[in-house]
This record gives sequence, structure tokens and C-alpha cells, in this order.
Amino acid sequence: MSQEYANADVSHLANRIVKGDLGLHKLDTFVEGDKNKGAALRRAVLEKITGVRLTHISQTVFDFNQLYGRNIENPIGSAHVPMGVAGPLLVKGEYAKGLFFVPLACSEGALVASVNRGCAAITRSGGAIVRVLRNEMTRAPLFRVNSVEQAVELVQWVRANRRLLEEAVGKVTRHGRLLDVEPYIVGNNVFLRFKFFTGDAMGMNMATIACDEIRKVIEEHLPFAHCISLSGNVCTDKKPAHINAIRGRGKTVVAEAVVNKDVVSKVLKTEPEAVVEVNVRKNYVGSATAGSISFNAHFANIIAAIFIATGQDVAQVVESSIGYTYAEVTEGGDLYISVTLPSLEVGTVGGGTWLPTAREALALMGCAGGGDPVGSNALKFAEVVTAAVLAGELSLLAALAAHHLAEAHKRLGRRKRHG
Ligand code: NAP
Repeated sequence: MSQEYANADVSHLANRIVKGDLGLHKLDTFVEGDKNKGAALRRAVLEKITGVRLTHISQTVFDFNQLYGRNIENPIGSAHVPMGVAGPLLVKGEYAKGLFFVPLACSEGALVASVNRGCAAITRSGGAIVRVLRNEMTRAPLFRVNSVEQAVELVQWVRANRRLLEEAVGKVTRHGRLLDVEPYIVGNNVFLRFKFFTGDAMGMNMATIACDEIRKVIEEHLPFAHCISLSGNVCTDKKPAHINAIRGRGKTVVAEAVVNKDVVSKVLKTEPEAVVEVNVRKNYVGSATAGSISFNAHFANIIAAIFIATGQDVAQVVESSIGYTYAEVTEGGDLYISVTLPSLEVGTVGGGTWLPTAREALALMGCAGGGDPVGSNALKFAEVVTAAVLAGELSLLAALAAHHLAEAHKRLGRRKRHG
């Protein structure tokens, strides 16, 4: 038995876990509450139960004593995802200005190479112009009332007492601010879609905690309004929903570039007209035929890879990768291409952004931590992410137009394993 859990009998603990008279979380108590030793003991118990060696999962850069209460429960180690980098990418945002190197964590061979190629094409053509159009995180508590008259009264009260609700929010966050509320009445259900400024945080905990304070004020003043759920799914978090596409959630961002026709030919090996045709027929006709709410080629690839690299909440790839790619041939014969992301949910503080590798990845883009003024780092990061999505979209559409997609995946995603 290892020194780390000398006081624990692994076989005995394994039996108790299997029988159900000991929870996995209780194992920490056998190692004086030390979360790193707890992780080692949990692995040993799991190995005993399953016969599976957890050699690689045990390799970790994390101090679980630091992560406990913030990021993970029942830790056993780490999942490792390879990280590559694409760039330099010239970004002309309001907050992100200059050349950026974009970290991408994934296991899809050819993805980083493709985004890298898109970065080269955009940068050689003068860069991507990016603007954040909206910046508001939403949470929509659900209230049950007795009639539609009470539903209307609730909505009117909330509108008339905005100051009271703002004060309640101010009690639980220094950086968060109530911006607006969008009510939805469905019979005797009232969904109040509150919108918050959340500084440099993605803001989901912040908005949820703020909504709980708002709920208390509403229930105190309007006894007929009963909060059924702090999240009523009109928010909408981690589920595909038209409301995020239409009304926005987190950051609504647009990036565009005019890619010189020579660059399209030399770097992307195709013609602007061919990229436009693939975009119209695939991203619009194809997506419409499939009943998609999203009209793009692969936003999720770039969003997921950046989210994993930078400690974002990966489940929010669902709504963050909603969006539209638009392309046309300019009068001069160049390729105009843009991507619009209505609900990009990103932060540079909070959640997993402080984890060691995430912080380094954010620092690589000059986006780690809180911004000055507050919120500016998250906006800068959102601009870089959107420019990278543009690069990825451009490269994939070009690869499809030139019939290079399958060949690239054979070359970069199918090499025989050695050993
Ligand atoms: P958070 O880590 O819960 O909160 C951010 C913290 O950073 C707050 O304590 C905030 O202080 C502080 N802060 C310091 N400098 C800041 C700055 N410049 N701008 C903004 N805040 C600053 O992060 P979050 O973004 O609100 O929530 C993210 C987490 O929520 C993720 O772990 C995600 O997985 C999880 N999540 C939760 C829910 C939910 O329903 N609760 C849903 C989805 C995801 P102040 O609060 O005093 O301003």
C-alpha cells in the first residue's frame, strides 16, 4: 500500500463502495481530507474494483486541494487533450488588435492545420474585422401564478421596480449588473429572461446567484408569484434553442474578411466563386433541408477546441457554435466572407479559466484574467475566438470547393499508429 493512504485498507474500502455503504466522496476522510491523497486513494479503490490501471489518468498538473469547491468533485486525475496552435491571425477588433496565436485543443487530425491555413489567408489579405454587437448573459427563472391577470401584474411590477432588483443584484456581485428583462407569458407561467453584464466572467454562476436574489424580492412583494425553477429553460443554457440565435446570449459577435482572389488561389487552392457556391448550397440549402437552426460548416470544431484549451464551459459549445456564414464575390473578384455568432459564451476569469494550462492559453492571446476596464478582456477574447472561427470556416469551405477534404483527413487524421 502506498504511503499516501497508509491508514486505509483499499480492499475493504472497495467492498464498502461496491455495497453502497460508503460514497466515493467519503474517501478523502481516510487521508485527513487531503484532496490529492484522496484522488490517489480513489484511483486505488477503482483499480481494485475494476482491474483497470489508471496510470495515465493519474498524471496531472492540478492541485486538487485548490480545485475542490471550485471545479471538481471526486477527483481521480486528468483527461489529456493535445493542444496545437494556429496563427498568426491578424485581428482588427475593437479590443483585439494585432497578430494572435490561437490555442486549439482537440484530437481531430487536420483541424489545426486547416484553421492555420485560414489564418494565413486572412492575415495575408489584411486581417479580420471583428465587432461585438451585444454583451449580456441571460438567466430566466420560471414563476407560477394563478391567472394571466397575475402574470401581467408580475411583469408590470418587475418593470416598475427595476431599481429594487438592481440593488438586490448589487448585494451578491461586485462586477455583475442587471441590464434588462424580457418577459414571456405562457398561460399561468411567467419566464423572466434577465440579462446581465458579467464583466470578464462568462457569468453563468453570477447570473444564477443574482437571479436567486431577484426571486426573493419578487416573492416577498408579490406573494401570488411562486418561483418554480431558477432556470426555466428560456435562458437557454446548454440546449439548442432559437431564442439564443435570435435574441443573443453572452456575446453576439461578427467577423468579416475580404480575401484577395490571388490568396484564395495560392493559399486555399480554389476560386472565390467556388467557395460562395459551397456556402450557399451546403450551409444554406443543406442546413435548411436538414432543419438546422445553424447555417455554418463547422463553428463547433473551432469553438470546442478553444473552449477546451482555455477552460471555458465545454457544454456551452451547444449555443456558442450557433451561427451563420455569409460569403459573396466582390466587384473586384475577391472573396467577402463573414461569420456571425449570436450566442458566444466566454470568459477570462471564473470557472475553469484559472486552471494552469487554461491560464497560459489565455495569456498566449493576451486575454488572461480581468480586464481594464472590467469586461474588456472577455470582449477581446470573444473577438479572437470569432476571428478564429472565420479562419476555420474559410479553410473548410475552400477545402470542400477544391475537393481536398477527404485527402487532408486521410493524410493528417489516419496515419498508422506505431508501437
Ligand atoms: P464564477 O467563477 O462563478 O464567478 C466569477 C468570479 O470572479 C466572481 O466571484 C467575481 O466577483 C469574480 N471576478 C473577479 N474579477 C472579475 C472581473 N473582472 N469580471 C467578472 N468577475 C470577476 O464564474 P461565472 O462566469 O459566474 O460562472 C462560470 C461557472 O459557472 C463555470 O464553472 C460554469 O461551468 C458554471 N456554470 C454554472 C451554471 C449555473 O447554473 N450556476 C450554469 C452553467 C455553467 P463578483 O461576483 O463579486 O463580481
